[in-house]
Amino acid sequence: MIKYAERINSLPPYLFAAIDKAKAEIIKKGVDVINLGIGDPDMPTPPHIVDAMKKSIDNPARHKYPSYEGMLSFRTAAADWYRRTMNVTLNSEDEVLTLIGSKEGIAHIPLAFLNPGDVSLVPDPGYPVYNIGSILASAKPFKMPLLAGNEFLPDLDAIPKDVAKKAKLMFLNYPNNPTSATASIKFFEEVVDFANEFEIIVVHDDAYSEMTYDGYKAPSFLNASGAKDVGIEMHSLSKTYNMTGWRLGFAVGNSEILAGLGKVKTNVDSGAFEVIQEAGVAALTGPQDCVRDMNNIYKERRDALLTGLKELGLDVKPPRATFYVWAHVNGKAADFSKMLLEKAGIVATPGIGFGEYGEGYVRFALTQSVDRINEAVNRMRKLDI
Ligand SMILES: *Cc1c(COP(=O)(O)O)cnc(C)c1O
Repeated sequence: MIKYAERINSLPPYLFAAIDKAKAEIIKKGVDVINLGIGDPDMPTPPHIVDAMKKSIDNPARHKYPSYEGMLSFRTAAADWYRRTMNVTLNSEDEVLTLIGSKEGIAHIPLAFLNPGDVSLVPDPGYPVYNIGSILASAKPFKMPLLAGNEFLPDLDAIPKDVAKKAKLMFLNYPNNPTSATASIKFFEEVVDFANEFEIIVVHDDAYSEMTYDGYKAPSFLNASGAKDVGIEMHSLSKTYNMTGWRLGFAVGNSEILAGLGKVKTNVDSGAFEVIQEAGVAALTGPQDCVRDMNNIYKERRDALLTGLKELGLDVKPPRATFYVWAHVNGKAADFSKMLLEKAGIVATPGIGFGEYGEGYVRFALTQSVDRINEAVNRMRKLDI
């Protein structure tokens, strides 16, 4: 009889299991399913990045163990990119750390800063790894509800004082998955004040900083004054450069916090493949029109999908960032997703999968062509709900 450790047994159930099963059944019936469920870019990695990898792989020096903190050339490229895109100055020696995708950094950071029983503050709904990483460190995640009434920002005043005193880490993510909400520098400055008051380390996940529309520019957490004293920002090449499969990201900000994360990493992984890091240098230092072109494509898809959702009578605001549309639905999220799948062959993720405060919402990912989205809209028109 195999027994799992308590930390595995205490992980939340996989809430997408029911929809995965229903999807498999529908596909078996031969239905042409339109998958708007997955937050994985459908377009390929830009060719200049792929070419840089091809060139790098022929160099035997790149085949060895990388350094755990990452190649200085990659960290310098990341620091330069930060100065250009965020107007933030970083020392590439100790204020940038290469990650094997930002998920890796998010999952590992609780091990560096949370003792068993310590509290972490995690957004709900949210990317599941903040919660799960905390549980794997035997810590106690405290859910900060992201509510429409507060523009899907956590209400810091609503966090009980005794919880705030016990909290060591706070996770934030703007532009936000799944709600597509954005945050202002002013909000980030309130977070810095809160973090100073309660001695909390802030981890801002900035995976969608470049995926913005309608002239909007998303601020970095590090644009807030004093942010570097209390926190770090996690970055990913996955969404910005269509590189999800490559596994490359980086963390920037407070050097002592990064050193703590680095300590875990030295003992757990041996860094990102240098060939991938050289491709990352090409992504960060090369032409950026690929990012603008992809945003134009997502914007066209967003507008097509919104037409359909509005005809369904759903309450949706056009997101100005991320490739998600977070739609309020009537009734339970899971029932709505099931209905969309069974009656229209459309996959959309029930919000409850991102936490209890995601109930009543469904997340649509703009990861299908505009033709497929128009087809989804046509199918929605025929639905009677
Ligand atoms: C996709 C995503 C990530 C994961 O990025 P990787 O760098 O591929 O690990 C992290 N955070 C959020 C909010 C995401 O949506």
